[in-house]
Amino acid sequence: MADVTSEGAVQAAPLIRIEELHRDFVMGDQVVHAVNGITTEAAAGEFLAVMGPSGSGKSTLLYLIGGLDRPTGGEIWVNGREIVRLDENELAAYRRREIGFIFQSYFLVPTMTALQNVQFPMIFAQVPAAEREPRAQQLLTQVGLEDRMNHRPTELSGGQQQRVAIARALANDPKIILADEPTGNLDTESGAVIMDLLAQLNREEGRTIVIVSHDPSITVYATRTLHLLDGRLRGGTEAGSRAAVAPRQDELRESTR
Ligand code: ADP
Ligand code: MG
Repeated sequence: MADVTSEGAVQAAPLIRIEELHRDFVMGDQVVHAVNGITTEAAAGEFLAVMGPSGSGKSTLLYLIGGLDRPTGGEIWVNGREIVRLDENELAAYRRREIGFIFQSYFLVPTMTALQNVQFPMIFAQVPAAEREPRAQQLLTQVGLEDRMNHRPTELSGGQQQRVAIARALANDPKIILADEPTGNLDTESGAVIMDLLAQLNREEGRTIVIVSHDPSITVYATRTLHLLDGRLRGGTEAGSRAAVAPRQDELRESTR
């Protein structure tokens, strides 16, 4: 999957590649073209911000990439695999192993403590029981919640709940993190904590991040920004404020095999 350029440098294939992607919703006699012919790609180690107003197709695009929804046309290649062709079991495994999701409204299980919420995805990934709790503790410590492990969501602030959601997204060590308006319900200060955490996961752990938002202030964290309107990408891409990080070594090995 690697191209060797004339200079002899090895160029890794993009981690995510989208070709002429469409998602139509039929509503009675109306068709909504939520995603209307998007072609783009993201390299491993990028922090991509997709900006657009409400209704421009941001969530739909993110759910398609994450295998939570199926396109009505086009292709989505992730790590060299066309995920549209995966069957339901393969798609579930893809979501579990390769993707970490973060949503605007956290979606924590209200009856579970922070520690239990973070362990939850590990159960489905068949992580041995003895490994789950120490790993969840380590992840909650990483997001600064070592003193909130036994709190339930209602006993946590919005910003703390979103940090639990980030720890949960990391449970199965995904290479790709998809975030849908992760700061949308938060005050500026708590939102900045969340964005700093995501930037850290990108910079220090080499995770590839795609965040969709209508909030322009998130673009300072991104290595590149795309603009979405009416289901289409507009104009060129902007370089972000930060340079992309080097991909993780295991990703490089995989993409140059
Ligand atoms: P954004 O996240 O940018 O606000 P969405 O991706 O949620 O936009 O929605 C894009 C368009 O698709 C909107 O017009 C929305 O009403 C429509 N849409 C999204 N999901 C559905 C659905 N499940 N059924 C019908 N229409 C939908
Ligand atoms: Mg949305």
